[in-house]
Amino acid sequence: MYAEVIVDVAAYPIDRPFDYSVPAPFQPLIESGCRVKVPFGNRQVLGFVTALKNETEVPLEKQKPIGELLDIQPALTQELLALTKWMKRHTLCYEIDALQVMLPSALRAKYEKILRIVDKSVVLPPAVQALFQQKESVELQAGESKELLSTIKRLIKEDVLTLETAVKQKTAMKKVRIVQIESDVNQLQTIYEQVSNQAKKQKNVVNWMIAHAGKRIVSTDLLKQLNISNAILQEVIKKGAATIEMEEVYRDPYADRTINTTNKLALTNEQDIALNEILRSYNAKEAKTFLLHGITGSGKTEIYLQAIERVILDQKEAIVLVPEISLTPQMTNRFKERFGSLVAVLHSGLSTGEKYDEWRKIKRGEVNVVVGARSAVFAPFQNIGLIILDEEHEGTYKQDDSPRYHARDIAIWRSEYHKCPVILGSATPSLESYARAKKGNYTLLTLENRPKHQALPEVSVVDMREELKNGNRSMFSIDLAEAIKLRLDRQEQMVLFLNRRGHSSFVLCRDCGTVVECPNCDISMTYHRHNERIKCHYCGEESQVPTICPECKSEHIRFFGTGTQKVEEEIARLFPTARVLRMDVDTTRKKGAHEQILQQFGEGKADILLGTQMIAKGLDFPNITLVGVLSADTTLHLADFRAAEKTFQLLTQVSGRAGRHDKEGKVIVQTYTPEHYAIQFAQHHDFVPFYNQEMMNRKQFAYPPFTYVVLIQFTHEDVLMTAEYAHKAANWLRGNLSSGAEIIGPSASSISRLQNRYRYQCLIKYKKEPELPEILQQLTRMYRTDWMKKGILMSIDLNPSSIM
Ligand code: ADP
Ligand code: ZN
Ligand code: ZN
Repeated sequence: MYAEVIVDVAAYPIDRPFDYSVPAPFQPLIESGCRVKVPFGNRQVLGFVTALKNETEVPLEKQKPIGELLDIQPALTQELLALTKWMKRHTLCYEIDALQVMLPSALRAKYEKILRIVDKSVVLPPAVQALFQQKESVELQAGESKELLSTIKRLIKEDVLTLETAVKQKTAMKKVRIVQIESDVNQLQTIYEQVSNQAKKQKNVVNWMIAHAGKRIVSTDLLKQLNISNAILQEVIKKGAATIEMEEVYRDPYADRTINTTNKLALTNEQDIALNEILRSYNAKEAKTFLLHGITGSGKTEIYLQAIERVILDQKEAIVLVPEISLTPQMTNRFKERFGSLVAVLHSGLSTGEKYDEWRKIKRGEVNVVVGARSAVFAPFQNIGLIILDEEHEGTYKQDDSPRYHARDIAIWRSEYHKCPVILGSATPSLESYARAKKGNYTLLTLENRPKHQALPEVSVVDMREELKNGNRSMFSIDLAEAIKLRLDRQEQMVLFLNRRGHSSFVLCRDCGTVVECPNCDISMTYHRHNERIKCHYCGEESQVPTICPECKSEHIRFFGTGTQKVEEEIARLFPTARVLRMDVDTTRKKGAHEQILQQFGEGKADILLGTQMIAKGLDFPNITLVGVLSADTTLHLADFRAAEKTFQLLTQVSGRAGRHDKEGKVIVQTYTPEHYAIQFAQHHDFVPFYNQEMMNRKQFAYPPFTYVVLIQFTHEDVLMTAEYAHKAANWLRGNLSSGAEIIGPSASSISRLQNRYRYQCLIKYKKEPELPEILQQLTRMYRTDWMKKGILMSIDLNPSSIM
């Protein structure tokens, strides 16, 4: 028996299956989708069995056997294996990348360096000997000293030692130590008498065990309860009073959360119509895609819940995708409240082990619903009845690096496989999706009202140029400052929104205008007040704030602009009584911090929640009556054809945070370009007119959805090499694509240097190019066989979410 195996080596000549022989003991167990350890070159690597067969063309002397079978149940289902083939073709990724992205990180390959003694006749230097102690092989740690490493290097050269790479496969299952107390009371009595009277603690423990004979208790709990050390427990165990067993448990990230149950709500007419359409298609087993366009707070989630309820009744499964930042406890609780333990949650805040446990619950069919971020679209359910993408317009549904897939495409592929509907939900659908719905490719469902007909909040736009003319140099306009005061007096809560973390908090010379940039990335360094340092958010470069300008030697160099910290200080100055909670990348780095801040705000422990993008979504607190956007301009001036769309979406989302309940809400947007249509239409909550206007612009400049875009990026440490190969590729494309395709560039990317590599890009814009997949495959082949060796890195991104 032979297995076709895709190995974990992402390089072109290797992007195909290799045949391995299957040793007899594995033959009854192995299936496609199983992970294996196989020898590859002189290494051990992880691989995925993609097929089994009885013959191979590999000559006998060259055949190698599978080293180890890592799964008894295949890690990947047949469906997911088929999906990887599709992803390889449609995103131009390596098959191994597609296979790995579907698994929780606990099951992905990790390698360790194993150092082994080959020539035992040689006496090792003491430091090396100490490393090995009595063993023949040890894991080489990254932290070994330079001297030791150079000695080791020499010994490897002299064939005394070898260094091997081995697949690390720690079991990721969590096990706890259970103390199984002896059930025979008489025996415990005997032990009690044997323990000497001096060993008081031991006597106490055995005494306690007599009262709890036959019981099982988690070891750490027992130690805590009896207030004894592990050594005491071990003594008692040695005497036979108990035994230790390991027991597998699920880590429960929600262990200390109380969850109430909710019942379904009586639907409004609009909701009812939408749900019925979805259920009709579900019953008919149609792979139909619905675009559910409903204003913020119109009850889209209630429709999801009721559709899922039906799916669960049929013992089928549902996948709910939510953008990472909306995956708040408030959001996931709504699912847990309705469906209890039938819900698994997958998000980046979980530890590797917690994620693995949630994944296993899905795999074993112990849950029917998964709520998760992008990669949850690969949940290994086998009987899917419904897939939902909430906030379908979000750019984070597209993965930025290989495999560059869009969760929406994967969802639709899986819905065709399982013959079930997909719901794309949004208050501000992407232009692409709305256009598809208008063409009839998707079925449009609309919710125009909120269930209790709460009004959408009033949005006022403040012209910051006028403020400056009137002598107001503060970052708060008169209107916003007054609105904040009023809320403080009334003890209502507010959200202040700053587009990007520290985006303008850079260090600037007032004399010559020099801005301190990262030496590796050509991007402004961000000023961090708490330690008086500047940091590059792309590569992590960090240094002290310069005291003199590096260009003109002026001493008038200091930080400038508005980071969340700066706003916080300004608030403290203008509104000394206000209690502020800040939520940005810096304050949410610790696990659970995000959740904690929201909880504090929900409990009314602050008046103002100040934050970045992170707070634009998912928040739903009854006491919020004011939302302030400090500067709408930052997104509006992104160098991206989606800038207007992104601004409209963002303003609509943040506005949606106010007045969701009984109290009326107000939104104030500050901007230097109040006349822009994205701001105007967002102010009036007018999606359709915005869509029409934006479609006209896209048509005029031939941008998506009127065309398709492919972004090809090149990087190299040498700027000339980068430019040369970018030109080479562009010229080659010009010669091979039809005249209908437009090739823009190459030009330096807007981030022209990142982590010491220069970046160039070119764009392909086309309407219809049937040969494109084949042509891009050819380009990829040239790159992988030739250019890659010269240090060029090329990436191809079909339908990129941003072209920066
Ligand atoms: P969306 O997902 O569209 O933003 P939600 O589903 O969060 O909207 O609904 C907004 C609020 O309206 C929630 O508090 C929800 O409980 C409530 N709601 C939804 N549907 C109904 C209904 N049919 N009757 C009463 N309240 C509803
Ligand atoms: Zn200067
Ligand atoms: Zn940098």
